[in-house]
Amino acid sequence: QQKAVIIGAGISGIATAIRLAVKGYAVEVYEANSYPGGKLSKIEQNGYRFDAGPSLFTMPQYVDELFELAGKNPANYFGYQKLDLVCKYFYEDGTRLNAYADTKQFAEEIENKTGEPAASVVKHLANSSDIYSITNHVFLERSLHRFKTYLRWDTVRSIFRFPQIDPFRTMHKANASNFKDERVVQFFDRYATYNGSNPYQAPATLNVIPHLEYHFGAYFPDGGMYSITQNLVKLAEELGVQFHYNYKVDEIVVINGKAKGIRAKGENILADVVVSNMDVWFTYKRLLSKHPQLHPKNILSQERSSSALIFYWGIKKSFPELDLHNIFFSADYKTEFDHIWKQQDIYSDPTVYLNISSKYKTDDAPNDCENWFVMINVPANNGQDWDKLIADVRENIIDKLSKILGEDISQLITCENILDPRGIESKTSSYKGSIYGTSSNNQFAAFLRHANKSSKVEGLYFCGGSVHPGGGIPLCLLSAKIASKLIK
Ligand code: FAD
Repeated sequence: QQKAVIIGAGISGIATAIRLAVKGYAVEVYEANSYPGGKLSKIEQNGYRFDAGPSLFTMPQYVDELFELAGKNPANYFGYQKLDLVCKYFYEDGTRLNAYADTKQFAEEIENKTGEPAASVVKHLANSSDIYSITNHVFLERSLHRFKTYLRWDTVRSIFRFPQIDPFRTMHKANASNFKDERVVQFFDRYATYNGSNPYQAPATLNVIPHLEYHFGAYFPDGGMYSITQNLVKLAEELGVQFHYNYKVDEIVVINGKAKGIRAKGENILADVVVSNMDVWFTYKRLLSKHPQLHPKNILSQERSSSALIFYWGIKKSFPELDLHNIFFSADYKTEFDHIWKQQDIYSDPTVYLNISSKYKTDDAPNDCENWFVMINVPANNGQDWDKLIADVRENIIDKLSKILGEDISQLITCENILDPRGIESKTSSYKGSIYGTSSNNQFAAFLRHANKSSKVEGLYFCGGSVHPGGGIPLCLLSAKIASKLIK
């Protein structure tokens, strides 16, 4: 039996382990932390449970697919429900908008609250759907690094439709030409942050993202986001995958251009195939430091995605006007992004994302209390004075939420945990604490991501948010699919 070693038990590492086990490999996963999931993990404190990283679940079919591949019924492991109300939006001018999953209802809500014609919203979402149909075969579901991909009919057809994906305008420019109302432009610009990019720089191709939310839908897993990790680990173990926790890998052993295994805890562990789910930057810099000639310098110097600052607050009150996902917009979006991408610090009025999983999973917080996951987008870690930035913005966030909700939030916080770019970097070995690998701030980004297979080392493969096709749970699951297909 052939043996595969996987470095890292992030969502993509776990999915790759499942796929390779189904293919008949003996699979061992080595994970530096004492727990699986990487960014998709959880925090517990004072009777509150928080999902530590991702909170928005889209494209659940890619999770189901793993159970089906293993001949199991996903429903026996993992339940989730579709959200009728995707997210609540609060603007500084007092506007409150409900983003309903139903396109018609959503478009009418926008028209009622902003005066922007519902037809413009419907047209924008139809365009989003077109971009998806052109790009998904080429950019998302296949290796961009194999000649065969370009010989396929659907690829050729997509290439002819390329101008339709709008790669030469920025997302903001496209949105500002599609909508008159600034609040609606801001609403659609925000989707650039779904992969850690800047709407004032990223190509309008990223207008594909709303399609994922409004066509495929947004979901909530019954057991919270962490249950995705838990159930996939369970499936992997049933398939015979062995997980080794507290097991930091120090080196990928390469002899004569072939990956022979890994080195960890002072020992060589041999394998026929090595898959790195570790951030590709650290994979080269730490695990292949003896082989600088193998380092793809251009790829490693690419701009990283933004990072995040999260306050996990236990709140001793419940707020009926809030939902699972809530956004409190900045009054000046352009300035906010300038702070993230140019000044590389934090704007005094950031857009605040508030996720409350206890709205759906009531045991995530004590009675009449709520577990608040309060997140803002921040720059990647370049050695900023984070302690000072965090102290300042914490006050600003509390003031902003208190003003909009009409309640002094500072008096309601019973416990607190904070995760910042330094913590994301150290907890998951993500270079600069970026949460989606490299940014998508230019039209070539999709082609510049690292491939899922090494072109220089035989038997070495890559999966996860820092390689093709990119970050976020759905893409990480697709990266596992592409990497596994490349492994013969
Ligand atoms: P990671 O989660 O990065 O895990 C890599 C693993 O490798 C880690 O467990 C690490 O410990 C391990 N490792 C690293 N080095 C070594 C080594 N030397 N030896 C052994 N093990 C090692 N996505 C969404 O879809 N929806 C969201 O709402 C969303 N929100 C997010 C919010 C936050 C705050 C964050 C941080 C991320 C968010 N994401 C979201 C992105 C999503 O979490 C990631 O894209 C995805 O989880 C990354 O998975 P991965 O497989 O690349 O691995």
